Amino acid sequence: DQQKTAFFQNMSHELRTPLTLILNPLEEESKELPDNKNIEVAAKNSRRLLRLVNQLLDFQKLEAGKQELKLAPVNITRFAYICGDYFASACSSKEVAFSASLNGEMMGQETNPVHILGEVDALEKVTFNFLSNALKYTPKGGQIELGLTTTPDKARFYIRDTGPGISEEGKQKLFQVFSQVDETTTRDYEGTGLGLALVKSLTEEMQGEVGIDSKVGKGSTFWAEFPLCEAPAEAEDLDFQAKDWLL
Ligand code: ADP
Repeated sequence: DQQKTAFFQNMSHELRTPLTLILNPLEEESKELPDNKNIEVAAKNSRRLLRLVNQLLDFQKLEAGKQELKLAPVNITRFAYICGDYFASACSSKEVAFSASLNGEMMGQETNPVHILGEVDALEKVTFNFLSNALKYTPKGGQIELGLTTTPDKARFYIRDTGPGISEEGKQKLFQVFSQVDETTTRDYEGTGLGLALVKSLTEEMQGEVGIDSKVGKGSTFWAEFPLCEAPAEAEDLDFQAKDWLL
C-alpha cells in the first residue's frame, strides 16, 4: 500500500510538471490573442486537467492518511466574507445572481469573529468545490447564495443554488468517490465525481460534517458544519487568493 501511495504521488508530480509547462505558455498566448478560440479551449482544458490532477493528489494523500492538515483557529466569518467577494465576480460573469448572508442577514465586512479549528487551504477547497458545482449546474438567470449560520457551538457554511436539484437516490451516493448523479451526467457537465468526496474527507479532517438539502427541481444547498473553537490569543491575518480556481 505504501508503494501504491508513492507511485500515485510520483505520478501526480510527473503529470503536473509538463501540464504546467503547457498551461503557462497557453495563458501567455491567450493574453496576446484574446480572440483565438483554439487557444482559449486548449487553455481551459489544461486548467481543468491540472485541477483534476491536483484533486487526485489531494485525495490520494487523504486516503493514505498523509495529508496532515495544519489545524489552527480560522475566523470563519472573515473567511466567508472573502469568499463572497470572489464568488460575486465569478457569478456575475456567468449571469447568475449572487448574495451572501450571515445568520440570515446580508453579509457585510464588519462581522463578529467566529473561529473554527481548520486550515484555510482546506476550507478553500471545500467552498470552491461547492461554488464550482453550483456555477456548473445553475442555469443563466439563476441564483446562488453563500451563507453562514452560527450557533453558540457550531458554524455552518452553505452554498445554495437554483439548479436542477438532486434526487433522494442521488443524495446517497453524492459524497462517494467517482459518483455522478445520473440525471445530471449529460456530456454538458464533465466531471469525475471526485470533488465532493474530497470535500467530505477534508471537512472530516477538520472535525466537521458535510450534507445536502435538495429537492428535484428546487435547487440544492450543500453545507459543511464545524464545531467552534476559542479565538486565538493574537488576531490572525486571514488572506487568500482564489488563484487556482479559474472557473
Ligand atoms: P464532478 O462535478 O467532478 O462530477 P463532484 O463530486 O463535485 O464531481 O459532484 C458529483 C456529482 O454531484 C456531480 O457529477 C453532479 O451529478 C452532482 N452535483 C454536484 N453539485 C451539484 C449541484 N449544485 N446541483 C446539482 N447536481 C450537483
